[in-house]
Amino acid sequence: MRLNNKIAIITGAGRGIGEAISIRLAKEGTDIVVCDIDFDNAERTTEKIKTLGRQPLTIKIDVSKSKDVGEMVNLTMKKFGRIDILVNNAGIAIVKPIVEFEEEEWDKVIDVDLKGVFLCSKAVAKIMINQKSGKIINISSSSGKMGTEFFANYAAAKFGVIGFTQGLAKELAPYKITVNAVCPGIIGTKMWDYADEELSKRLGLPKGEAFKKQIQNIPLSRSGTPEDVAGIVAFLVSPEADYMTGQAINVTGGMVMH
Ligand code: NAP
Repeated sequence: MRLNNKIAIITGAGRGIGEAISIRLAKEGTDIVVCDIDFDNAERTTEKIKTLGRQPLTIKIDVSKSKDVGEMVNLTMKKFGRIDILVNNAGIAIVKPIVEFEEEEWDKVIDVDLKGVFLCSKAVAKIMINQKSGKIINISSSSGKMGTEFFANYAAAKFGVIGFTQGLAKELAPYKITVNAVCPGIIGTKMWDYADEELSKRLGLPKGEAFKKQIQNIPLSRSGTPEDVAGIVAFLVSPEADYMTGQAINVTGGMVMH
């Protein structure tokens, strides 16, 4: 196991990509702080981690609330005494034309997808700076490299995550803390169930067709799985990636190549 006895905080770990990252890192020997706004989902992930023989800690958190984030770090330090890995994975999308976007909807996505990354990184960086070690992974998106219609607000947040990753990577490099982003493409999770429904409606297509249309743009001819993303995160938090920082790695089946 590459990550024996490391301590990792994963946000949005109750399902989808966050759940897969939690399970993959647990299999690599990591104890997992399972954080999600949905406590029941987080508990389900926790049960799976226990069966892998690792110690989980389950925390209900809204990443856009600094009080929740402070509590997350306090509880983690109380139980484990250190934080080796932070995966900022929690995210939401609202799929609609920008002329129909309400100001509150704009703020909500930016608060969770961008401000949440800032709040969690800030709180955890303070611990990692004292430790003089750590790995931060920010889950951006192919939408962080390339804007698409009806995802403009989401793209604004996810481009922001990459800029933040680069700045923070330079700031934290003197403390031997690396900061990288991962940019998934079309991954079959509940988020895409929702996006497909909205896009299909907008494009006048039957349910499921908008998702299929996206696959046509993927050179490897399939959607990604949460495990595809988890494997890259496991590499980036391992010692093999010690000389990588400030990068934004695509996991898109070739859909994005820059
Ligand atoms: P998902 O299935 O919707 O899972 C996201 C998880 O995050 C859910 O458990 C959700 O809880 C939780 N969450 C939402 N808001 C939160 C908050 N404020 N604080 C804490 N937890 C919160 O989505 P996913 O597809 O796994 O996406 C995970 C990450 O990958 C996101 O950052 C997303 O933008 C990114 N991504 C996904 C894709 C894709 O194709 N799926 C592609 C590129 C990037 P609730 O269920 O209660 O909302």
